Amino acid sequence: APNPPVTPVDPAASRALFERAQAVTPGGVNSPVRAFSAVGGTPRFIRSAQGAWLTDVDGARYVDLICSWGPMLLGHAHPEVLAAVSAAVARGTSYGTPTEPEVELAEEIVARTPVEKVRFVSSGTEATMSAIRLARGFTGRDVVVKFAGCYHGHVDALLASAGSGLATLAVPGTPGVPESSTALTVVLPYNDRAAVEAAFAAHGDRIACLITEAAAGNMGVVPPEPGFNAFLADICRRHGALFITDEVMTGFRATRQGYWGIDGAVEGWTPDLVTFGKVMGGGFPAAAFGGRADVMSRLAPEGPVYQAGTLSGNPIATTAGLTTLRLADDAVYDHISRAAETVKQGIAEAFTAAGVPHVVQSAGTMFSVFLCEGPVRDFADASRTDVGAYAAFFHAMLDRGVYLPPSAYEAWFLSAAHDEQALDAVLTALPDAARAAA
Ligand code: PLP
Repeated sequence: APNPPVTPVDPAASRALFERAQAVTPGGVNSPVRAFSAVGGTPRFIRSAQGAWLTDVDGARYVDLICSWGPMLLGHAHPEVLAAVSAAVARGTSYGTPTEPEVELAEEIVARTPVEKVRFVSSGTEATMSAIRLARGFTGRDVVVKFAGCYHGHVDALLASAGSGLATLAVPGTPGVPESSTALTVVLPYNDRAAVEAAFAAHGDRIACLITEAAAGNMGVVPPEPGFNAFLADICRRHGALFITDEVMTGFRATRQGYWGIDGAVEGWTPDLVTFGKVMGGGFPAAAFGGRADVMSRLAPEGPVYQAGTLSGNPIATTAGLTTLRLADDAVYDHISRAAETVKQGIAEAFTAAGVPHVVQSAGTMFSVFLCEGPVRDFADASRTDVGAYAAFFHAMLDRGVYLPPSAYEAWFLSAAHDEQALDAVLTALPDAARAAA
């Protein structure tokens, strides 16, 4: 059994590595949020992980509520995943030919979700980039609609901010993206039907697709209001645009069938295309996009829309993903669901006792806390969260052996390995940490 968390006062080894990293890597990290820029301090460099626990290079242990930003549904170093991966590695690591695990993983995804055909890529970014290319190729149209606060990876056309006013075309969200790359992107407020109607009224015959997170998780967790996804599916269909749900985060995470299992399966709507990543790679770089057979058949080599990848469908990654999905039965989702309820209740009690305004929101087994009055239904609401208070809370949790996402705008993730001991460590840390945010 894991020992109780022990955190050294001074993360000396992490700090030394961070200094070396900053000399050779921008900001010292390979993905910005890891750098603790939003909360300050030294990011902990992790040396190993087991189950629900991370161990850093100073020997401190933390309950992990990041779970690699979603993928580690079963917890770290799951013995059956490791065994399957080790066996696959021994057979060679990449061939650049078709392989059996790709077929099996595609079959598993098709069986669980509304997609009829699926194509593998190596990151969620590639999945959304390829999905919008395919939508444009299929429809012969150019305009893409997205929502403010929904993140779809660092695709140029999707790194866009809202222009001035509703239904106007977007402006680049970062230097390095030319205006021409976002000139065909429309950015709208999430959960706002009137804005969607206005955009389709203004640009309807030019819209190739609307892409939305199946439930928003990248501005903190902001679920779609009841009927919102069904409304989007319907307005797309009426205008001949494709409806793309991005399930990179929610896929095989929010439920066994992704977020679609919560509202699509119930309300009876089907996306035209879906993007996946994270859990389906079992901790390796694998992602996918899939959907209607008639749309997917427009992809090369069956159709004319080009898309490819040297390591796409890599045998190690697809073996890890397949093993993870096969192990992710109802019991896994039930366990994570119960664990999420426990933590959510602990958060609410702690902030209530500390007198800190807060709202906990969830989408299936994913959740996050906003340090402001709720409800939070779009990006403007999410922006009201108190980031300074979150930073104080984050560090108080870290000092007590709990590694939260180092940003107020991220979802928290649990795994099947978050047992009573791990949850107790979180619940024990929460009251003091919430007071630190007051
Ligand atoms: N789409 C969503 C909803 C995501 O949450 C992410 C990453 O967090 C992506 C796309 C991009 O995936 P990747 O980081 O693998 O490129």
